[in-house]
Amino acid sequence: MSQDIVNHFVAGEEFEGKSTRTAPVFDPAKGVSTKQVRLASTDDVEHAVQKAEAAFASWSSMSMTKRNQVLFRFRELLEAKKGELAEIITSEHGKVLSDALGEITRGQEVVEFACGLPHLLKGQFSLNASTGVDVYSLTQPLGVVGIISPFNFPAMVPMWFFPVAIAAGNTVILKPSEKDPSAANWMAALWKEAGLPDGVFNVVHGDKEAVDALLEHPVVQSISFVGSTPIARYVYETGARAGKRIQALGGAKNHMLVLPDADVDVAADAAVNAGFGSAGERCMAISVVVAVDPVGDTLVESIAKKMSAIQVGDGRRSCDMGPLVTEAHRDKVASYIDVAREDGATVVVDGREVAVDGDDQGFWLGPTLVDNVPTSSRVYGEEIFGPVLSVVRVSSYDEGVDLINSGAFGNGTAIFTNDGGAARKFVTQIEVGMIGVNVPIPVPMAYYSFGGWKHSMFGDSRAHGEEGFRFFTRQKVVTSRWPEPSHGGLNLGFPQN
Ligand code: NAD
Repeated sequence: MSQDIVNHFVAGEEFEGKSTRTAPVFDPAKGVSTKQVRLASTDDVEHAVQKAEAAFASWSSMSMTKRNQVLFRFRELLEAKKGELAEIITSEHGKVLSDALGEITRGQEVVEFACGLPHLLKGQFSLNASTGVDVYSLTQPLGVVGIISPFNFPAMVPMWFFPVAIAAGNTVILKPSEKDPSAANWMAALWKEAGLPDGVFNVVHGDKEAVDALLEHPVVQSISFVGSTPIARYVYETGARAGKRIQALGGAKNHMLVLPDADVDVAADAAVNAGFGSAGERCMAISVVVAVDPVGDTLVESIAKKMSAIQVGDGRRSCDMGPLVTEAHRDKVASYIDVAREDGATVVVDGREVAVDGDDQGFWLGPTLVDNVPTSSRVYGEEIFGPVLSVVRVSSYDEGVDLINSGAFGNGTAIFTNDGGAARKFVTQIEVGMIGVNVPIPVPMAYYSFGGWKHSMFGDSRAHGEEGFRFFTRQKVVTSRWPEPSHGGLNLGFPQN
Protein backbone atom coordinates (compact mmCIF):
# COMPACT_ATOMS: atom_id res chain seq x y z
CA MET A 1 0.00 0.00 0.00
CA SER A 2 1.43 3.39 -0.93
CA GLN A 3 2.05 5.74 1.98
CA ASP A 4 1.18 9.40 2.42
CA ILE A 5 3.95 11.73 1.31
CA VAL A 6 5.05 14.81 3.23
CA ASN A 7 5.88 17.38 0.54
CA HIS A 8 7.88 20.57 0.84
CA PHE A 9 5.90 23.80 1.28
CA VAL A 10 7.23 26.60 -0.89
CA ALA A 11 5.70 29.91 -1.93
CA GLY A 12 2.38 29.15 -0.28
CA GLU A 13 1.81 25.68 -1.69
CA GLU A 14 2.97 22.10 -1.48
CA PHE A 15 5.99 21.42 -3.64
CA GLU A 16 7.10 17.94 -4.72
CA GLY A 17 10.51 18.88 -6.06
CA LYS A 18 12.60 16.72 -8.36
CA SER A 19 14.36 14.53 -5.83
CA THR A 20 13.02 10.98 -5.64
CA ARG A 21 14.64 10.29 -2.27
CA THR A 22 12.35 9.87 0.74
CA ALA A 23 12.66 8.76 4.39
CA PRO A 24 10.10 6.93 6.53
CA VAL A 25 8.25 8.81 9.28
CA PHE A 26 7.16 6.63 12.21
CA ASP A 27 4.38 6.68 14.74
CA PRO A 28 6.69 5.81 17.66
CA ALA A 29 3.90 4.56 19.93
CA LYS A 30 2.80 2.06 17.29
CA GLY A 31 6.27 1.29 15.97
CA VAL A 32 5.18 1.55 12.34
CA SER A 33 6.07 3.84 9.47
CA THR A 34 3.02 5.96 8.65
CA LYS A 35 4.30 8.18 5.85
CA GLN A 36 7.32 9.12 3.77
CA VAL A 37 8.94 12.54 3.80
CA ARG A 38 10.65 13.94 0.75
CA LEU A 39 14.39 14.60 0.99
CA ALA A 40 15.23 17.66 -1.06
CA SER A 41 17.99 17.81 -3.64
CA THR A 42 20.21 20.85 -4.11
CA ASP A 43 17.93 21.88 -7.00
CA ASP A 44 14.86 21.69 -4.77
CA VAL A 45 16.56 23.96 -2.23
CA GLU A 46 17.46 26.32 -5.08
CA HIS A 47 13.78 26.59 -6.01
CA ALA A 48 12.86 27.49 -2.42
CA VAL A 49 15.65 30.06 -2.16
CA GLN A 50 14.51 31.72 -5.38
CA LYS A 51 10.94 31.99 -4.08
CA ALA A 52 12.12 33.34 -0.71
CA GLU A 53 14.39 35.85 -2.45
CA ALA A 54 11.54 37.00 -4.70
CA ALA A 55 9.30 37.57 -1.68
CA PHE A 56 11.88 39.57 0.26
CA ALA A 57 11.57 42.97 -1.47
CA SER A 58 7.87 43.44 -0.83
CA TRP A 59 7.82 41.82 2.64
CA SER A 60 10.75 43.84 3.95
CA SER A 61 9.32 47.11 2.63
CA MET A 62 5.77 46.48 3.83
CA SER A 63 4.74 48.83 6.64
CA MET A 64 5.48 47.56 10.13
CA THR A 65 1.81 47.94 10.98
CA LYS A 66 0.77 45.56 8.22
CA ARG A 67 3.55 43.08 9.01
CA ASN A 68 2.55 43.16 12.65
CA GLN A 69 -1.09 42.48 11.84
CA VAL A 70 -0.04 39.22 10.16
CA LEU A 71 1.91 38.23 13.26
CA PHE A 72 -1.03 38.92 15.52
CA ARG A 73 -3.30 36.84 13.26
CA PHE A 74 -0.78 33.97 13.32
CA ARG A 75 -0.76 34.14 17.12
CA GLU A 76 -4.56 34.09 17.31
CA LEU A 77 -4.85 31.15 14.90
CA LEU A 78 -2.14 29.24 16.77
CA GLU A 79 -3.93 29.78 20.06
CA ALA A 80 -7.23 28.60 18.56
CA LYS A 81 -5.89 25.55 16.72
CA LYS A 82 -2.93 24.34 18.75
CA GLY A 83 -4.71 21.12 19.66
CA GLU A 84 -4.35 20.02 16.01
CA LEU A 85 -0.64 20.74 16.06
CA ALA A 86 -0.19 18.86 19.34
CA GLU A 87 -1.79 15.76 17.82
CA ILE A 88 0.59 15.91 14.87
CA ILE A 89 3.59 16.23 17.19
CA THR A 90 2.48 13.30 19.34
CA SER A 91 1.86 11.11 16.30
CA GLU A 92 5.39 11.60 14.93
CA HIS A 93 7.52 12.40 17.98
CA GLY A 94 5.71 10.32 20.58
CA LYS A 95 5.63 12.82 23.48
CA VAL A 96 2.37 12.91 25.42
CA LEU A 97 -0.27 15.38 24.23
CA SER A 98 0.01 17.68 27.26
CA ASP A 99 3.75 17.95 26.67
CA ALA A 100 3.20 18.68 22.97
CA LEU A 101 0.82 21.47 23.97
CA GLY A 102 3.45 22.73 26.40
CA GLU A 103 6.08 23.05 23.68
CA ILE A 104 3.62 24.94 21.45
CA THR A 105 2.88 27.34 24.30
CA ARG A 106 6.58 28.06 24.77
CA GLY A 107 6.91 28.69 21.03
CA GLN A 108 3.84 30.89 21.05
CA GLU A 109 5.54 33.07 23.66
CA VAL A 110 8.18 33.91 21.05
CA VAL A 111 5.43 34.82 18.58
CA GLU A 112 4.03 37.15 21.26
CA PHE A 113 7.49 38.61 21.84
CA ALA A 114 7.86 39.17 18.09
CA CYS A 115 4.53 41.05 18.01
CA GLY A 116 6.36 43.76 20.03
CA LEU A 117 9.31 43.89 17.66
CA PRO A 118 8.53 47.35 16.22
CA HIS A 119 9.81 48.64 19.54
CA LEU A 120 13.21 46.99 18.99
CA LEU A 121 13.29 48.01 15.33
CA LYS A 122 13.30 51.69 16.29
CA GLY A 123 16.52 53.49 15.45
CA GLN A 124 18.29 56.29 17.31
CA PHE A 125 18.58 59.94 16.30
CA SER A 126 21.06 62.62 17.30
CA LEU A 127 20.11 66.14 16.30
CA ASN A 128 23.01 68.48 15.51
CA ALA A 129 25.76 65.95 16.17
CA SER A 130 27.82 68.55 14.39
CA THR A 131 26.44 71.93 13.35
CA GLY A 132 23.65 71.22 10.90
CA VAL A 133 24.53 67.53 10.86
CA ASP A 134 22.19 64.85 12.18
CA VAL A 135 23.14 61.22 12.85
CA TYR A 136 20.68 58.39 13.00
CA SER A 137 20.71 54.62 13.01
CA LEU A 138 18.35 52.24 11.30
CA THR A 139 17.74 48.53 11.41
CA GLN A 140 17.16 46.36 8.37
CA PRO A 141 16.51 42.66 7.79
CA LEU A 142 19.20 40.34 6.43
CA GLY A 143 17.29 38.82 3.49
CA VAL A 144 16.72 35.07 3.11
CA VAL A 145 17.51 33.21 6.34
CA GLY A 146 17.74 29.46 7.00
CA ILE A 147 16.57 27.52 10.06
CA ILE A 148 17.56 23.88 10.63
CA SER A 149 15.81 22.20 13.54
CA PRO A 150 16.03 18.94 15.54
CA PHE A 151 13.41 16.26 16.10
CA ASN A 152 12.77 16.84 19.77
CA PHE A 153 10.82 20.11 19.50
CA PRO A 154 9.29 20.15 16.02
CA ALA A 155 7.19 23.25 16.78
CA MET A 156 8.97 25.11 19.58
CA VAL A 157 12.51 25.19 18.20
CA PRO A 158 11.48 26.58 14.78
CA MET A 159 9.39 29.11 16.71
CA TRP A 160 12.49 30.22 18.65
CA PHE A 161 13.60 31.77 15.36
CA PHE A 162 11.00 32.31 12.64
CA PRO A 163 8.65 34.76 14.42
CA VAL A 164 11.59 37.09 15.08
CA ALA A 165 13.05 36.63 11.59
CA ILE A 166 9.71 37.29 9.90
CA ALA A 167 8.75 40.23 12.12
CA ALA A 168 12.10 41.84 11.31
CA GLY A 169 11.32 41.60 7.59
CA ASN A 170 13.30 38.53 6.52
CA THR A 171 12.06 35.61 4.44
CA VAL A 172 12.62 32.12 5.81
CA ILE A 173 13.49 28.61 4.71
CA LEU A 174 12.92 26.07 7.47
CA LYS A 175 14.55 22.63 7.17
CA PRO A 176 12.94 20.63 9.99
CA SER A 177 14.00 17.23 11.23
CA GLU A 178 13.09 14.48 8.80
CA LYS A 179 11.94 12.38 11.78
CA ASP A 180 8.85 14.53 12.52
CA PRO A 181 8.35 16.83 9.53
CA SER A 182 4.58 17.46 9.51
CA ALA A 183 4.47 20.15 12.23
CA ALA A 184 6.46 22.48 9.95
CA ASN A 185 3.96 22.11 7.10
CA TRP A 186 1.08 22.73 9.49
CA MET A 187 2.71 25.97 10.66
CA ALA A 188 3.39 27.00 7.04
CA ALA A 189 -0.31 26.54 6.22
CA LEU A 190 -1.19 28.58 9.32
CA TRP A 191 1.01 31.45 8.16
CA LYS A 192 -0.82 31.41 4.83
CA GLU A 193 -4.15 31.52 6.62
CA ALA A 194 -2.85 34.44 8.69
CA GLY A 195 -2.20 36.36 5.49
CA LEU A 196 1.57 36.05 5.20
CA PRO A 197 2.52 36.65 1.55
CA ASP A 198 3.62 33.54 -0.34
CA GLY A 199 7.35 32.90 -0.23
CA VAL A 200 8.00 34.57 3.13
CA PHE A 201 7.90 31.26 5.03
CA ASN A 202 8.97 28.09 3.22
CA VAL A 203 9.62 24.55 4.38
CA VAL A 204 12.13 22.27 2.69
CA HIS A 205 12.44 18.74 4.03
CA GLY A 206 15.65 16.83 3.80
CA ASP A 207 18.90 15.58 5.21
CA LYS A 208 22.56 16.51 4.79
CA GLU A 209 22.12 17.36 1.11
CA ALA A 210 19.50 20.03 1.90
CA VAL A 211 21.53 21.33 4.86
CA ASP A 212 24.66 21.64 2.72
CA ALA A 213 22.71 23.38 -0.04
CA LEU A 214 21.51 26.00 2.47
CA LEU A 215 24.97 26.36 4.00
CA GLU A 216 26.62 26.97 0.64
CA HIS A 217 23.92 29.06 -1.05
CA PRO A 218 25.16 32.63 -1.62
CA VAL A 219 21.69 34.15 -1.22
CA VAL A 220 21.09 32.60 2.23
CA GLN A 221 22.38 35.16 4.73
CA SER A 222 22.25 33.27 8.00
CA ILE A 223 21.66 29.85 9.52
CA SER A 224 20.01 29.17 12.86
CA PHE A 225 20.76 25.56 13.74
CA VAL A 226 19.71 23.39 16.67
CA GLY A 227 20.81 19.76 17.01
CA SER A 228 23.59 17.52 18.24
CA THR A 229 27.04 18.97 18.95
CA PRO A 230 28.98 17.34 16.05
CA ILE A 231 26.46 18.63 13.48
CA ALA A 232 26.27 22.04 15.21
CA ARG A 233 30.03 22.36 14.94
CA TYR A 234 29.94 21.30 11.28
CA VAL A 235 27.17 23.79 10.48
CA TYR A 236 28.99 26.58 12.31
CA GLU A 237 32.32 25.97 10.57
CA THR A 238 30.89 25.37 7.10
CA GLY A 239 28.44 28.26 7.26
CA ALA A 240 30.99 30.71 8.67
CA ARG A 241 33.45 29.74 5.90
CA ALA A 242 30.74 30.59 3.40
CA GLY A 243 30.48 34.04 5.01
CA LYS A 244 27.15 33.57 6.79
CA ARG A 245 25.95 34.56 10.21
CA ILE A 246 25.58 31.38 12.24
CA GLN A 247 23.98 30.53 15.55
CA ALA A 248 24.39 26.78 16.15
CA LEU A 249 22.98 25.30 19.35
CA GLY A 250 24.33 21.85 20.20
CA GLY A 251 23.89 19.00 22.66
CA ALA A 252 23.82 18.97 26.43
CA LYS A 253 24.48 17.04 29.61
CA ASN A 254 22.71 18.95 32.34
CA HIS A 255 23.62 18.49 36.01
CA MET A 256 21.44 19.12 39.02
CA LEU A 257 23.43 19.76 42.19
CA VAL A 258 21.57 18.76 45.36
CA LEU A 259 23.02 20.11 48.61
CA PRO A 260 22.44 18.30 51.93
CA ASP A 261 20.14 21.08 53.18
CA ALA A 262 17.77 20.80 50.19
CA ASP A 263 14.19 19.66 50.60
CA VAL A 264 14.68 16.08 49.39
CA ASP A 265 11.07 15.61 48.38
CA VAL A 266 11.13 18.76 46.20
CA ALA A 267 14.50 17.81 44.70
CA ALA A 268 13.35 14.26 43.91
CA ASP A 269 10.18 15.53 42.22
CA ALA A 270 12.28 17.93 40.17
CA ALA A 271 14.79 15.23 39.17
CA VAL A 272 11.98 12.91 38.03
CA ASN A 273 10.09 15.60 36.11
CA ALA A 274 13.20 17.00 34.46
CA GLY A 275 14.82 13.60 33.85
CA PHE A 276 11.88 11.78 32.29
CA GLY A 277 9.59 14.46 30.80
CA SER A 278 9.41 13.92 27.05
CA ALA A 279 11.27 10.63 27.66
CA GLY A 280 14.44 12.59 28.40
CA GLU A 281 14.54 13.87 24.81
CA ARG A 282 14.96 17.51 25.85
CA CYS A 283 18.13 19.56 25.54
CA MET A 284 17.32 21.00 28.98
CA ALA A 285 16.54 17.61 30.57
CA ILE A 286 18.42 16.80 33.74
CA SER A 287 20.61 13.79 33.00
CA VAL A 288 22.95 13.83 36.00
CA VAL A 289 22.00 14.35 39.64
CA VAL A 290 25.05 15.36 41.66
CA ALA A 291 24.31 14.45 45.26
CA VAL A 292 26.47 16.11 47.91
CA ASP A 293 27.13 13.83 50.93
CA PRO A 294 25.19 12.75 52.89
CA VAL A 295 22.02 13.40 50.85
CA GLY A 296 22.64 10.62 48.26
CA ASP A 297 20.94 7.58 49.82
CA THR A 298 17.72 9.36 50.80
CA LEU A 299 17.57 11.18 47.49
CA VAL A 300 18.04 8.05 45.38
CA GLU A 301 15.42 6.22 47.42
CA SER A 302 12.94 9.06 46.96
CA ILE A 303 13.61 9.38 43.19
CA ALA A 304 13.17 5.62 42.68
CA LYS A 305 9.89 5.64 44.62
CA LYS A 306 8.49 8.51 42.56
CA MET A 307 9.60 6.87 39.31
CA SER A 308 7.39 3.87 40.02
CA ALA A 309 4.33 6.12 39.60
CA ILE A 310 5.22 7.11 36.02
CA GLN A 311 2.83 5.58 33.51
CA VAL A 312 4.60 4.91 30.21
CA GLY A 313 2.47 4.55 27.11
CA ASP A 314 0.86 5.98 24.02
CA GLY A 315 0.92 9.78 24.29
CA ARG A 316 -2.68 9.95 23.08
CA ARG A 317 -3.82 8.10 26.21
CA SER A 318 -3.55 9.48 29.73
CA CYS A 319 0.11 8.55 30.19
CA ASP A 320 3.02 10.51 31.66
CA MET A 321 5.78 9.46 29.29
CA GLY A 322 5.70 8.33 25.67
CA PRO A 323 8.07 6.22 23.54
CA LEU A 324 11.40 7.26 22.09
CA VAL A 325 11.46 8.73 18.61
CA THR A 326 12.81 5.76 16.65
CA GLU A 327 13.72 2.15 17.26
CA ALA A 328 17.39 2.84 16.57
CA HIS A 329 17.43 5.69 19.10
CA ARG A 330 15.62 3.55 21.70
CA ASP A 331 18.16 0.75 21.25
CA LYS A 332 21.09 3.16 21.54
CA VAL A 333 19.71 4.73 24.73
CA ALA A 334 18.95 1.29 26.23
CA SER A 335 22.49 0.11 25.49
CA TYR A 336 23.82 2.61 28.04
CA ILE A 337 22.17 0.61 30.83
CA ASP A 338 24.54 -2.31 30.17
CA VAL A 339 27.48 0.08 29.88
CA ALA A 340 26.57 1.52 33.29
CA ARG A 341 26.53 -1.94 34.88
CA GLU A 342 29.83 -2.92 33.21
CA ASP A 343 31.43 0.30 34.43
CA GLY A 344 30.48 -0.44 38.04
CA ALA A 345 27.36 1.70 38.49
CA THR A 346 24.28 0.38 40.28
CA VAL A 347 21.22 0.02 38.07
CA VAL A 348 18.49 0.98 40.56
CA VAL A 349 15.60 0.98 38.05
CA ASP A 350 15.94 -0.73 34.64
CA GLY A 351 13.57 0.86 32.11
CA ARG A 352 13.67 -2.19 29.85
CA GLU A 353 11.37 -3.93 32.31
CA VAL A 354 8.63 -1.31 32.20
CA ALA A 355 4.93 -2.16 31.79
CA VAL A 356 3.47 -0.11 28.95
CA ASP A 357 0.00 1.18 28.12
CA GLY A 358 0.51 0.95 24.38
CA ASP A 359 1.20 -1.15 21.34
CA ASP A 360 3.83 -3.91 21.72
CA GLN A 361 5.70 -2.63 18.67
CA GLY A 362 6.20 0.90 20.11
CA PHE A 363 9.72 2.20 20.74
CA TRP A 364 9.48 1.88 24.51
CA LEU A 365 12.02 2.38 27.22
CA GLY A 366 10.89 3.16 30.75
CA PRO A 367 12.51 5.55 33.22
CA THR A 368 15.92 4.27 34.26
CA LEU A 369 17.99 5.24 37.29
CA VAL A 370 21.70 4.45 37.64
CA ASP A 371 23.48 5.33 40.86
CA ASN A 372 27.17 5.77 41.69
CA VAL A 373 28.04 6.35 38.04
CA PRO A 374 31.82 6.70 37.66
CA THR A 375 32.71 9.95 35.87
CA SER A 376 35.04 7.91 33.64
CA SER A 377 32.02 6.02 32.23
CA ARG A 378 30.52 6.89 28.85
CA VAL A 379 27.19 7.00 30.67
CA TYR A 380 28.44 10.09 32.48
CA GLY A 381 30.42 11.69 29.64
CA GLU A 382 28.12 11.28 26.65
CA GLU A 383 24.77 12.84 25.85
CA ILE A 384 22.30 9.94 26.06
CA PHE A 385 19.13 11.90 25.15
CA GLY A 386 16.70 9.44 26.67
CA PRO A 387 15.13 8.43 29.99
CA VAL A 388 18.36 7.41 31.74
CA LEU A 389 19.08 9.45 34.87
CA SER A 390 22.54 9.12 36.41
CA VAL A 391 23.46 9.87 40.01
CA VAL A 392 27.02 10.89 40.88
CA ARG A 393 28.02 11.22 44.54
CA VAL A 394 30.38 14.00 45.66
CA SER A 395 31.68 14.89 49.11
CA SER A 396 31.33 18.68 48.95
CA TYR A 397 29.76 21.66 47.19
CA ASP A 398 33.17 22.55 45.70
CA GLU A 399 33.64 19.07 44.29
CA GLY A 400 30.20 19.30 42.67
CA VAL A 401 30.93 22.68 41.09
CA ASP A 402 34.33 21.49 39.80
CA LEU A 403 32.66 18.46 38.28
CA ILE A 404 30.03 20.51 36.47
CA ASN A 405 32.58 23.06 35.27
CA SER A 406 34.87 20.36 33.90
CA GLY A 407 32.15 19.04 31.58
CA ALA A 408 32.25 19.55 27.82
CA PHE A 409 28.73 20.99 27.66
CA GLY A 410 27.30 24.10 29.27
CA ASN A 411 23.64 24.24 28.36
CA GLY A 412 21.59 24.10 31.57
CA THR A 413 22.13 23.31 35.23
CA ALA A 414 20.31 23.64 38.54
CA ILE A 415 21.05 23.82 42.23
CA PHE A 416 18.67 22.57 44.90
CA THR A 417 19.25 24.10 48.32
CA ASN A 418 17.64 26.23 51.02
CA ASP A 419 20.87 28.20 51.44
CA GLY A 420 20.60 31.51 49.57
CA GLY A 421 24.32 32.19 49.90
CA ALA A 422 25.23 28.85 48.35
CA ALA A 423 22.79 29.42 45.50
CA ARG A 424 24.20 32.89 44.85
CA LYS A 425 27.75 31.53 44.80
CA PHE A 426 26.69 28.77 42.41
CA VAL A 427 25.07 31.22 39.98
CA THR A 428 28.29 33.23 39.74
CA GLN A 429 30.77 30.32 39.70
CA ILE A 430 29.09 27.90 37.33
CA GLU A 431 30.17 27.85 33.67
CA VAL A 432 26.79 27.16 32.14
CA GLY A 433 24.46 29.37 30.10
CA MET A 434 21.08 28.71 31.77
CA ILE A 435 20.82 28.18 35.50
CA GLY A 436 17.96 27.16 37.78
CA VAL A 437 17.77 27.80 41.50
CA ASN A 438 15.34 25.18 42.78
CA VAL A 439 14.06 25.11 39.19
CA PRO A 440 15.19 22.02 37.26
CA ILE A 441 14.52 23.17 33.67
CA PRO A 442 15.42 26.86 33.58
CA VAL A 443 14.31 27.67 30.03
CA PRO A 444 14.46 31.47 29.64
CA MET A 445 11.30 33.36 28.72
CA ALA A 446 10.99 34.63 25.13
CA TYR A 447 12.16 38.15 26.04
CA TYR A 448 15.45 36.72 27.36
CA SER A 449 17.78 34.77 25.10
CA PHE A 450 18.21 30.98 25.01
CA GLY A 451 21.60 29.35 24.56
CA GLY A 452 24.35 27.48 26.35
CA TRP A 453 28.10 27.70 26.72
CA LYS A 454 31.00 25.54 25.49
CA HIS A 455 29.96 22.64 23.21
CA SER A 456 26.30 23.50 23.69
CA MET A 457 26.52 26.50 21.39
CA PHE A 458 28.69 27.78 18.55
CA GLY A 459 28.30 31.43 17.55
CA ASP A 460 27.73 34.69 19.36
CA SER A 461 23.97 35.26 19.29
CA ARG A 462 21.59 33.14 21.27
CA ALA A 463 17.97 32.44 20.27
CA HIS A 464 15.12 35.00 20.68
CA GLY A 465 15.12 37.96 23.06
CA GLU A 466 17.29 40.91 22.07
CA GLU A 467 20.12 38.71 20.80
CA GLY A 468 17.74 36.88 18.49
CA PHE A 469 16.47 40.19 17.16
CA ARG A 470 20.06 41.42 16.57
CA PHE A 471 20.92 38.17 14.80
CA PHE A 472 18.19 38.71 12.21
CA THR A 473 18.93 42.39 11.55
CA ARG A 474 21.75 44.66 10.41
CA GLN A 475 22.27 48.17 11.70
CA LYS A 476 23.26 51.22 9.69
CA VAL A 477 24.33 54.64 10.86
CA VAL A 478 23.52 57.63 8.63
CA THR A 479 25.23 61.01 8.90
CA SER A 480 23.13 63.60 7.15
CA ARG A 481 23.33 67.27 6.35
CA TRP A 482 20.85 69.43 4.54
CA PRO A 483 22.73 72.68 3.93
CA GLU A 484 20.87 75.89 4.28
CA PRO A 485 20.58 77.80 0.98
CA SER A 486 23.31 80.27 2.02
CA HIS A 487 25.84 77.48 2.77
CA GLY A 488 28.77 76.89 0.47
CA GLY A 489 32.55 76.81 0.09
CA LEU A 490 35.16 74.05 0.22
CA ASN A 491 36.43 72.51 3.45
CA LEU A 492 38.68 69.42 3.22
CA GLY A 493 39.10 68.98 7.02
CA PHE A 494 36.94 67.28 9.62
CA PRO A 495 34.19 69.52 10.98
CA GLN A 496 35.34 71.08 14.27
CA ASN A 497 32.01 72.14 15.71
P1 NAD B 1 20.68 16.03 14.80
O1 NAD B 1 21.96 16.77 15.00
O2 NAD B 1 20.74 14.61 14.39
O3 NAD B 1 19.78 16.77 13.68
C1 NAD B 1 19.54 18.15 13.74
C2 NAD B 1 19.31 18.66 12.32
O4 NAD B 1 20.50 18.42 11.54
C3 NAD B 1 18.17 17.94 11.60
O5 NAD B 1 17.44 18.87 10.86
C4 NAD B 1 18.90 16.95 10.70
O6 NAD B 1 18.20 16.64 9.51
C5 NAD B 1 20.19 17.66 10.40
N1 NAD B 1 21.31 16.72 10.17
C6 NAD B 1 21.43 15.47 10.66
N2 NAD B 1 22.58 14.92 10.25
C7 NAD B 1 23.21 15.85 9.49
C8 NAD B 1 24.46 15.88 8.79
N3 NAD B 1 25.28 14.84 8.80
N4 NAD B 1 24.79 17.00 8.14
C9 NAD B 1 23.97 18.06 8.13
N5 NAD B 1 22.78 18.09 8.78
C10 NAD B 1 22.40 17.00 9.45
O7 NAD B 1 19.84 16.23 16.15
P2 NAD B 1 18.50 15.51 16.55
O8 NAD B 1 18.76 14.09 16.87
O9 NAD B 1 17.43 15.83 15.59
O10 NAD B 1 18.13 16.31 17.90
C11 NAD B 1 18.66 15.99 19.15
C12 NAD B 1 19.88 16.82 19.46
O11 NAD B 1 19.56 18.20 19.41
C13 NAD B 1 20.42 16.57 20.86
O12 NAD B 1 21.81 16.54 20.79
C14 NAD B 1 19.93 17.77 21.65
O13 NAD B 1 20.70 18.08 22.79
C15 NAD B 1 20.03 18.83 20.62
N6 NAD B 1 19.18 19.96 20.96
C16 NAD B 1 19.80 21.07 21.46
C17 NAD B 1 19.05 22.16 21.83
C18 NAD B 1 19.71 23.38 22.38
O14 NAD B 1 19.01 24.36 22.59
N7 NAD B 1 21.00 23.39 22.62
C19 NAD B 1 17.65 22.12 21.69
C20 NAD B 1 17.05 20.98 21.17
C21 NAD B 1 17.84 19.89 20.81
